[in-house]
Amino acid sequence: MRYQNTYVNLDTRLYHEQPPTPLDNPRVGHFNTQVAQQLGWANDEDLMTNWVEILGGQYVPADFKPLSMAYAGHQFGQWAGQLGDGRGLLMAQVLDNHGQPQDLHLKGAGLTPYSRMGDGRAVLRSTIREYLCGHALTQLGIPSSNALGFVVSNTRVRRERIEAGAALMRVADSHIRLGHVEWIASFAPDVLGEFTNYMIDTYYPECRDSETPVLAFLTAVIERTARMIADWQLIGFAHGVMNTDNLSITGSTLDFGPFGFMERFNPAWINNHSDHTGRYAYQNQPAIGHWNLNVWLPHFMRLEGVTRETLSECLAPYEATFMQHYQQGLCRKLGLPHQRESLNLAFEWLTLLEDNLLDYTNSFRALLGLVAPADHPYEQKLLATMTTELSNDAQQVWQDWSTRYLASIEQLSLEQAVDDMTTNNPVYVLRNGMAQRAITAAEQGQFEEVDRVFRLLANPYSVQDIANDLDSNAPAPDTPQMPISCSS
Ligand code: AMP
Ligand code: MG
Repeated sequence: MRYQNTYVNLDTRLYHEQPPTPLDNPRVGHFNTQVAQQLGWANDEDLMTNWVEILGGQYVPADFKPLSMAYAGHQFGQWAGQLGDGRGLLMAQVLDNHGQPQDLHLKGAGLTPYSRMGDGRAVLRSTIREYLCGHALTQLGIPSSNALGFVVSNTRVRRERIEAGAALMRVADSHIRLGHVEWIASFAPDVLGEFTNYMIDTYYPECRDSETPVLAFLTAVIERTARMIADWQLIGFAHGVMNTDNLSITGSTLDFGPFGFMERFNPAWINNHSDHTGRYAYQNQPAIGHWNLNVWLPHFMRLEGVTRETLSECLAPYEATFMQHYQQGLCRKLGLPHQRESLNLAFEWLTLLEDNLLDYTNSFRALLGLVAPADHPYEQKLLATMTTELSNDAQQVWQDWSTRYLASIEQLSLEQAVDDMTTNNPVYVLRNGMAQRAITAAEQGQFEEVDRVFRLLANPYSVQDIANDLDSNAPAPDTPQMPISCSS
């Protein structure tokens, strides 16, 4: 691997150098060969032979520089003060085979000075959810952390019950969170300049060409965040806990806990059982992104040339960037050009989904069964299921809508429309039930289902033989929601 361990050269107040605390008898959970190749891990015999020991914290290769990072954050809208890597370690920084920086971060690696009341561990259940979700989003084309693999162990971890300790080697373009800057502003304000230069040079080097690199950097962070959240809305993803310590400065999805993928469409859907007020409900995510940036930005006023006015100018385009990306994506999902009439159709369509509690993923995909039925037998079946779920009143609404929709499609190149629809509407997302079935089997020592779901989600836009009905069936409308909490 092309090591580039630079974080360890920053001011020593920002981190604590330490090795992981070994897990007891670590064993193979799953390994992502594609990520190993991307990192150059696959070309190193020592790393390949010893990957289980490395993830189990028993062996630290000489080129690694393990450390826990200090950060802070706003959690559920409140200042939470010092947080930090309480159970994860930045193990190494590398350049991948595209020359992009990537962090290897071991989650579940034991106690650190930032563990507070925690035990420094991660349980198998949440490790599998994080592993599969990073993979799912990456393969869907949404900027996200991913993982090299995970191990399970005999280490006993107490949550609501005793569970098996596990560890995940997370891979992300950066592990710097908005909360890093919040920590610096409170606890080491004199390093803000150095740290900002580090973020620019490492992750936004193109901003050096600007006359005001700091403002160019902030503008770029804001833009990437807006686009990432638009991607989430389009795919039906709810992060679940968008605290400022869980948002990356690169606009890449980070920290999977109580996340979920939308099933029956309800914009007010709250996946996180611990989110009693619905702060992080699906429909609130764009506004929360803005809220987070808005508490983050003023810290940069300590730097020369940054004023309240220039920061307002940076943040002002957030909403337009989000809207542009979201609306364009919505039109693509329908195979229509980005224009007012398409958007009217799109919003009527979303209302139909909401009023009839239709499955978000399947309903969008089903439209291929309407537009190009001959080539889409699977989608025709989805369409048939969808129309049987419509109320009597909605049948008429659907007839009327689909007639106008087909008329719009007929004015376009069918090939282009089908291409847009196929590449923007997945067949498979990581439904909570899918993750749960993989977890239940894994907790019995069987990892075949983790592997099957992993392979299924490797190609989420194509119909696959290894799928079963449970992978694509939405729960019945009156099924109680599966409780997904912050406990992990
Ligand atoms: P999260 O809600 O997972 O984003 O975590 C919030 C903060 O709590 C972070 O600083 C984590 O490192 C820390 N944390 C979460 N779980 C544990 C744990 N089991 N042991 C130590 N720290 C933890
Ligand atoms: Mg976190």
